[in-house]
Amino acid sequence: MKFLVFIEQREGKIRKASLEALSLARKLAGGPVATVLPGKAVMAPAKDLGKYGAGVVYVADRDDLALYSNKGYVGALDLATEKENPDAVLMAATAMGKDVAPRFAARHDVSVLADVMDLRVEMDRLVGWRPVYSGKARAEVDCGVAKLQIATARPNVFPGEAREAAEPRIETLDLAEIAPRAKVLRVETSESRELDVAEADVIVSGGRGIKGPENWPLIRDLQQALGAALGASRAVVDAGWIDHQHQVGQTGKVVSPTLYVACGISGAIQHLAGMGTSKVIVAINKDPDAPIFKVATYGIVGDIFQIVPEVAKAVRAAKAE
Ligand SMILES: Cc1cc2nc3c(=O)[nH]c(=O)nc-3n(C[C@H](O)[C@H](O)[C@H](O)COP(=O)(O)OP(=O)(O)OC[C@H]3O[C@@H](n4cnc5c(N)ncnc54)[C@H](O)[C@@H]3O)c2cc1C
Repeated sequence: MKFLVFIEQREGKIRKASLEALSLARKLAGGPVATVLPGKAVMAPAKDLGKYGAGVVYVADRDDLALYSNKGYVGALDLATEKENPDAVLMAATAMGKDVAPRFAARHDVSVLADVMDLRVEMDRLVGWRPVYSGKARAEVDCGVAKLQIATARPNVFPGEAREAAEPRIETLDLAEIAPRAKVLRVETSESRELDVAEADVIVSGGRGIKGPENWPLIRDLQQALGAALGASRAVVDAGWIDHQHQVGQTGKVVSPTLYVACGISGAIQHLAGMGTSKVIVAINKDPDAPIFKVATYGIVGDIFQIVPEVAKAVRAAKAE
């Protein structure tokens, strides 16, 4: 099966989730695959993709692709598809992937296997499963008889494996005038440049149990001890205790870290929808009946103001050994 992988970058840095999608395609294809990389000044990162399984990189390197544009990036993917004629197109289920995939699919009149957590090839068809009903059930999905099959892979689920490989062949895409109807004028990043929960391997989250924004240092201490990203429930985001970029859940970010530590979070279904697929979940809550304990791998019933500092201390001691 012939794969083409859409690669996402920010300021010339390839997103980890795209390397995961690329490794996945390489594994399913049993060898190097084609990729497409739109952006500005992306020739150097393009060469690096060989390690992750890119045999060829279609590069669309232009000033007007420096910032994301749906029309421009999908245009690059379209042109690479025309040249490569793949059976399947993969990309990461990031915010960008979730914007690119539907437009691209609509243009080819096919559907998308969105946000899959498993993907395999059966009789030349992509088959996978994805969580539905806020993670309460799994849906087995395939692309039917579509000529072009498209899937987006959930970040942090598939390994992004760098292997020794030859440098990929670079093909420059000659895109026609883009003239997007909507244009990103600028991107404002938070000053702190915090680790993004969507890509983090370890997340420590705080909920209404922290009582007020003045108590974030309690959670931050454990977050820093673990080298984790900071997550939050919607309740504390809505209360204005922290920025929305930290929100995990149905209307926040969907995460699948190796370790998720929920501090003073009840475990509402909308929160579980965003973190229920984490590999190990540790919940600290004073209510033994809190729903978060139903999904927790390890549960600690107790007051976060006593437990969290103890856990942070133990983590630092263990790391120092
Ligand atoms: C359409 C929709 C979308 C939503 N999207 C999201 C979403 O994306 N993400 C999200 O998180 N929520 C979302 N929600 C909100 C969700 O339903 C819950 O209201 C929210 O998750 C609750 O946040 P919480 O767990 O911090 O607060 P609470 O439910 O108030 O829970 C606080 C918990 O802290 C515990 N606690 C209190 N004090 C302590 C202490 N000292 N020590 C230990 N534990 C303590 C309590 O026992 C309790 O379990 C959404 C809701 C709707 C309707």
